[in-house]
Amino acid sequence: MKISDIFDKNDRAVLSFEVFPPKKTSPIESVYSKLEEICALKPDFISVTYGAGGTGGHSRTCEIASKIKNDFGVESVAHLTCVNSTKADIDSTLEDFKAHNIENILALRGDYVEGIEPQKDFIYASELCEYIKSHGDFDIGGACYPEVHLEAKDEVEDILNLRKKVEAGAQHLISQLFFDNSVFYRFIERSKIAGINVPIEAGIMPVTNKSQIERMVSMCGASLPSKFVKIMQKYDSKPDALRDAGIAYAVEQIVDLLANGVDGIHLYTMNNPYVARKISEAVASLL
Ligand code: FAD
Repeated sequence: MKISDIFDKNDRAVLSFEVFPPKKTSPIESVYSKLEEICALKPDFISVTYGAGGTGGHSRTCEIASKIKNDFGVESVAHLTCVNSTKADIDSTLEDFKAHNIENILALRGDYVEGIEPQKDFIYASELCEYIKSHGDFDIGGACYPEVHLEAKDEVEDILNLRKKVEAGAQHLISQLFFDNSVFYRFIERSKIAGINVPIEAGIMPVTNKSQIERMVSMCGASLPSKFVKIMQKYDSKPDALRDAGIAYAVEQIVDLLANGVDGIHLYTMNNPYVARKISEAVASLL
């Protein structure tokens, strides 16, 4: 099923999860039991990340997205980046997706990788959206940044670029993670003013260990409210307590987002079935 149809059919907020393939040094089967547990929670869909290196990385994404959809019975979305890909690379990936019955793609530019000279066929995700649109019957999603993409000059430029991505074919958007809901609400306002009318899911990352959050924050620049920092400091050396506090914080964010009419929640599960289950159970009756 197309993700756009899931949004159209539901008069409630959509709940989706994100998972990632194992490192190339681990067998792909090593994540299957966790994926099965995560799929058993029956989110509306699960998206599968795409390796930052680009070319050649699609096969694991494709295999896992296919497993989720065809074996575990949950609709899947395959992420696809273009910064290190030629049109011929993208053509072959799209063929693979089709062959595996994958109908939904999250079209991304991807980050520049040190030591890899970017290809020139695609500069922005909007160009990939346009290309996918003209090369098959895929549903296309895109990424968005409540705290503004790190490379953008300012929020006005970023939102106008986001509008170009929607005009190029992105039918729904998934946000970068954030820990302060007011940042997301201001972003939704800017999007509406800019005439962006597609569904926007809020990206929520439950923090379950300190190094994870430090890595994420340095990569995406999310700001940390003092309430959140206090939790991290207090439970820094108690892994179970930090995990439970991280789950509680994410649930509180989600309850507030749902009460404010968010289109959907996209949970960065970090392939952790326990965390995904705790959060799903806590918000199930609110969706
Ligand atoms: P774009 O939409 O192209 O934007 C990149 C920058 O260019 C922005 O600053 C934007 O303002 C600017 N821009 C866009 N269009 C134009 C234009 N026409 N003219 C001038 N400037 C323009 N990375 C991975 O490697 N694999 C993944 O699986 C992955 N999944 C992600 C999932 C989500 C939900 C999110 C939020 C991010 C994900 N990323 C992933 C990270 C993403 O690849 C990076 O954030 C990347 O830096 C930007 O990708 P994008 O698709 O948003 O790019």
